[in-house]
Amino acid sequence: MCGIFGYVGTRSDAPQMVLAGLKKLEYRGYDSWGIASRENGQRPAALAVEKHIGKIGQAETVLIDSTLAIGHTRWATHGGVTDANAHPHLDCEERLAVIHNGIVENHESLRHGLKARGHTFRSETDTEVIAHLVEDELTVVPEGSEQLVQALMAVFRRLDGLSAIGVLDTRTRCIAAAKNGSPLVLGWGNGENFLASDSSALLEHTRRLTFLEDGQAALVLDDTIKLYDAATGEPLLDPKVWDITWADEVADLEGHPDFMSKEIHEQPRVLRKLAEQCAPDAVALARMIAHASNVHFVGCGSASHAGKVGEYLFSRIAGKQVSFAVGSEFGYLEHFIDPKSLVVGLSQSGETIDLLDSMKAAQRRGAKLAALVNVEGSSLYRLVDHPVLLGAGPERCVLATKSFTAKLAVLLMAAHAMHGRVEHGRELVERAADEIQAFLTDGRAEMMRTLAEKIVDREHLYVIGRGPSYPMALEAALKIKEVSYMHAEGFAGGELKHGVIALIDEGTPCIVLAPNDDSFHAIISGAQEIKARGGFIVGISPRQSDVWDLHIPVADVGEGAELVNAVPPQVLAYHLARLRGLDPDKPRNLAKSVTVK
Ligand code: GLU
Repeated sequence: MCGIFGYVGTRSDAPQMVLAGLKKLEYRGYDSWGIASRENGQRPAALAVEKHIGKIGQAETVLIDSTLAIGHTRWATHGGVTDANAHPHLDCEERLAVIHNGIVENHESLRHGLKARGHTFRSETDTEVIAHLVEDELTVVPEGSEQLVQALMAVFRRLDGLSAIGVLDTRTRCIAAAKNGSPLVLGWGNGENFLASDSSALLEHTRRLTFLEDGQAALVLDDTIKLYDAATGEPLLDPKVWDITWADEVADLEGHPDFMSKEIHEQPRVLRKLAEQCAPDAVALARMIAHASNVHFVGCGSASHAGKVGEYLFSRIAGKQVSFAVGSEFGYLEHFIDPKSLVVGLSQSGETIDLLDSMKAAQRRGAKLAALVNVEGSSLYRLVDHPVLLGAGPERCVLATKSFTAKLAVLLMAAHAMHGRVEHGRELVERAADEIQAFLTDGRAEMMRTLAEKIVDREHLYVIGRGPSYPMALEAALKIKEVSYMHAEGFAGGELKHGVIALIDEGTPCIVLAPNDDSFHAIISGAQEIKARGGFIVGISPRQSDVWDLHIPVADVGEGAELVNAVPPQVLAYHLARLRGLDPDKPRNLAKSVTVK
């Protein structure tokens, strides 16, 4: 995962700019951070480096006065979370500084060879081999403006695994980059140029972006950026430059204490915007689904739950079979995909490697590809035949909230569009948006805080639902465990008596998702069975029932129920995290955009 940011130009506050970029990329990993800059005016050219473990928070950089800098926020894969293992990593001579996103799978044998040639290592990371390999390569590549990028490409060809790499050279005053798998975006400025892991960190500087493709390398200078085919070392002429229209980063929290709270509250606005603008996209997606002989939704984490809800929605609303798989498993069961297949990838970032691998595997078998994706210009966006933009704006909290409900909204509209009823789908999304807004402002969100206070010290929590509420139960449990670290599990309501019910004992909290649909009576029976064994039953439902120990009332919005039912568990998860003294935006061990296997 990790966030990368680099700057080459004329501004002398490059380290501060890099730090500001890292703060925007911190959702990608927050084990440690570091910056390296070329100190202005030093003869010979010298590197200044600072490294820290932990989150960036409000940190300032101690580096000053430089026009060339790179930085990194780490999600550790190889080597513990220590200052020494924080990036950037340097060569022996301290001419170069290397930042890296990904894994060098053959690092052990490379390190062995480098040590034998006299190189001294300062860290336990896989990354450090790159610095020393480039150092060696610079002794054989002829000097000149392209020396660094040619040396990096030669090294890149020897690395196994998926990586995005940036190398700052103090001597030739440039940054070279190469990528395979992990994302890298180049930003074109005036007399200055940029490099970052994703576009959201660049948009305040420039909207003219080039997305580096796998197997490409770049040389970033102050007056231009050059692209190369990393396999041959040949230059690539006329790189594609995108003019990004994506909504800019909203810089502040707009009065909210953190991004999770802010993004939960943004949901009514995001859903209304989708209802207003997304109907043509939903119709086009429905048409692709109708024409395909077999359709597969693929996603990871929360996006996988949205995909599974989609499976139910298309069956129930459109009478169309859609199958579903998580991204990391799709590769093991894609052998029946053919040119009549359609694979729809669901992803907030559009960079999740397990999903991208699935999509590429399907593409190799000739399938058509579509996507529901939040980040314009992301790898997924560029890969597919038909990307539907979620328009949720940047999601900074590691947990998916607004990007999850946005996916549900598009799927709901597309399912109705299959029978020419996109207008009805739109109305359902609008009604759901109104109800979510009411829920967040009329005191019901406070009920979730009171519930959190009651159950905060419990060890386990269960969520049950039937039909589309089953994947919603999985999503509710995921939200709770990833942010509060409370053990929570979602189950299909009908599965209780097949084993799950053994988990229930006196006072075990159990959330029951019970929309006013054909699942209602059966899920109430399941709730009764839990209550009879001592469970504490929390019903999220438009309907009253004697079984509720606590009733969280929600309006009956028909087929928009999943949109509405997503929100109370989000609010509960948020309060559980807060009561446990945890940072809801950056849960331990997680990063938002999972770009490693
Ligand atoms: N493998 C490298 C490390 O553990 C990079 C990890 C990352 O992508 O943040 O330092």
